[in-house]
Amino acid sequence: MHNKIIKKIRHSLSATPFEDDIQHTRYKKASGRERNDILIHNIPYLFTCDETEKLRCFRNYSIVISGGIIQEVIPAKKANPGKYNLVYEAGMRGGIVVTPGLINAHSHPPMYLMRSAMMLDEGESIDETIAAMPRWERAMTDEDYTFSAIGDITEQQKAGITTTLSHFAVYWPIELAARATKQNVINAVSVASNSHPENSPELIREIIKKQEAPAESQLAIALHYVHRANAKILEEVKNLQSEYNLLFTCHMAESEKVEKKCVALHGKREVEMLEKYGLLTNRTIASHSIYVTDREIKKLVQNKVGIVHLPTSNVIHKSGTFPLWKFIDAAGNSYIALGTDGVVSKSRLDLLSEAYQTRITHLYSRTVKFGSLFKMMTTNAARTLNMPNRGKILPGMQADLAFWKLKDRGFIPFDEKNPMTLLGNLITHGGRAVRDLMINGEFIVKSRRHTKINESKLLAALQKKHIAMRKRVIKK
Ligand SMILES: [Zn+2]
Repeated sequence: MHNKIIKKIRHSLSATPFEDDIQHTRYKKASGRERNDILIHNIPYLFTCDETEKLRCFRNYSIVISGGIIQEVIPAKKANPGKYNLVYEAGMRGGIVVTPGLINAHSHPPMYLMRSAMMLDEGESIDETIAAMPRWERAMTDEDYTFSAIGDITEQQKAGITTTLSHFAVYWPIELAARATKQNVINAVSVASNSHPENSPELIREIIKKQEAPAESQLAIALHYVHRANAKILEEVKNLQSEYNLLFTCHMAESEKVEKKCVALHGKREVEMLEKYGLLTNRTIASHSIYVTDREIKKLVQNKVGIVHLPTSNVIHKSGTFPLWKFIDAAGNSYIALGTDGVVSKSRLDLLSEAYQTRITHLYSRTVKFGSLFKMMTTNAARTLNMPNRGKILPGMQADLAFWKLKDRGFIPFDEKNPMTLLGNLITHGGRAVRDLMINGEFIVKSRRHTKINESKLLAALQKKHIAMRKRVIKK
């Protein structure tokens, strides 16, 4: 079955290769070189956190990449472009701002086909929305989920995102989408699901047993809400987390109703449940976390549980406001990341507008600084997802890079003596598309075009599948 979908992707979505040298003068290929090194040269503004987590802006720097890994970050005048196989000229035509590839700590890629299907007119709250969702999800085939995930992930990539945590009930469609898009994907599979009632922790063991080497997505465990699991499931989740060092992710304390339901069903609050089963660890990622007490915040912070803030989703579903300042006051800022959620919760799948939403949501009390927002999209997210080799532009890190055109609306004007004004513009102007995107040393977006997926064909296929899905839902 997977082979059939793989063939279909190859046949109907593959991008046609285009000549770098002729059309794209920014990429200079030196023929006859033996080593496969890349030089990103003459970067006017490079933003990254350093080893000490300090946010830095480097002017006129170059990055040397080999084998998908960043080898050197050096002043441009120290680099010799003649030495490299490929030179990307970041200083040309107004220049490029380079940042680490952004990290999306919470999303539901197979739901992409549901954009417009659920414009939230069907439900007023998150609880009503969730109740309405399974009839759409069940109307999708594995091929639909796969194409959905490809649509979702490629949209994220165009917005500068290079790593995505996917939370859903199926494994294969996400694995196939990771292969097709080359995105770094954490493939969190639900062990208790409304749309897939057959799912259980045993499914994770089966996937591990049958795993064809090498998988391109990283397997993890998901649970929509903690209250959906019984003691047996939670014990198994803990066993799996310990045995295989797997990440575990859940929506936590997302609404008042969810908070109360957990107490009504289990006599315990969600944080207490996680604590009881040994799941308050740095390998657990809790999204939303709105209805948590001061004591619970302390516990989450002390145990380094990753927290994903989804301000747009929280507002759209009338869920409530994430207590950001309480987490920060409890010294929990370094474990707060951002997520897009699925298209049902935030139609535009980008993190820059989510960072801006974070800024304006919490202005009532203090100001979330641009540097803090930048960290939420990069180093905090990498820490939260246990990916120490991502989220920074430093030697030894994976080469995940986002290239933003400097001579662009929303960047200009800025204060050249204070480059942080540039970062402020990047965030406050909302979502924008990258000019180029590199994942593990490979250009996945080149001159605004996806190098793996033919987007025109993808959009046509998604539209066709969406209409077919609508017909199936109406018939039911
Ligand atoms: Zn979610």
